[in-house]
Amino acid sequence: MIMPAPIPHALTPATMSLPYRLLARLLSPAGSRARLSILIFHRVIPETDPLFPLEATAASFDAQMGQVRQAFNVLPLPEAVARLKQGDLPARAACITFDDGYADNLTVAAPILRRHGLPATFFIATAYLDGGRMFNDTVIEAIRRARDARIDLTALGLGEHDVSTPAAKARAIGLILPQVKYLPLGRREEVAADLAQRVADAPLPDDLMMTSAQVKELHGLGMEIGGHTHAHPILAGLDDATVRAEIGAGRERLEALLGDRVRVFAYPNGRPGQDYQPEQAALVRDMGFAGAVSTQAGCATRASDPWQLPRFSPWNPARFMPMLVNNLRSPA
Ligand SMILES: [Zn+2]
Repeated sequence: MIMPAPIPHALTPATMSLPYRLLARLLSPAGSRARLSILIFHRVIPETDPLFPLEATAASFDAQMGQVRQAFNVLPLPEAVARLKQGDLPARAACITFDDGYADNLTVAAPILRRHGLPATFFIATAYLDGGRMFNDTVIEAIRRARDARIDLTALGLGEHDVSTPAAKARAIGLILPQVKYLPLGRREEVAADLAQRVADAPLPDDLMMTSAQVKELHGLGMEIGGHTHAHPILAGLDDATVRAEIGAGRERLEALLGDRVRVFAYPNGRPGQDYQPEQAALVRDMGFAGAVSTQAGCATRASDPWQLPRFSPWNPARFMPMLVNNLRSPA
């Protein structure tokens, strides 16, 4: 039997993570001065996507989780929220979260998390389970399959775009998505569908999001399932009754599916003041959630609002640990 060559000591994840572990310990002590890092992911794809070369892949996510395990104490989010309030978090406390409910969360990310022994929370927008597709993916997948080198979307008020190369496609997607995102909910889906019809050369995938059975499987692995509304609307401009109905519908569907309580919530898109109003956090609290997370950068402290906890987005996998440590220094 041939033994694999031993990894040189200097290159083990433990050794590579040591400086970060020390820095994290300095910046994130235990107890009442603790600083909680909450990481946010969306997709973890099997191989690099030419349209989004920075998107987390199985390989980059595996390496990141190896480093996180060495440098941080990863806790389930509800436990971290409770201990943050009590002032008894361990040093270097962190949580791992995923938004939206992509199928690759179960098929690609979950096995990696389990191999590293790390808990995570998955925030699911229930409208897209079982074959649905979010408007942003309709736009992305349509442009990926564009039949022409240029697309004319002036009829939709979305301009004309070069889509002749992967980089041009990525640029066009980056320009189009923000314009569609803030349309009213029904209109947003209509425009995305209209765009797809004009642009795409092939049917779009209908298996990007989890099935109900897959969410159940993820929960069965011991992962936390959190609320993310039903249809993922931008909450900021909606009245309280609509906000309650959206959040409540998503939670009810998940609780019926899992036979368990949904204890935590993530605001769609998540930027305070832009995607939700800070006052809406009181509504989330009154609905009985133990905590909620935004997409405001930074780390949480005992002074943070438990229903508006900031999260760290590791958007550049090549600078993952430096960014994560730097996030600990940002104002909470
Ligand atoms: Zn989302």
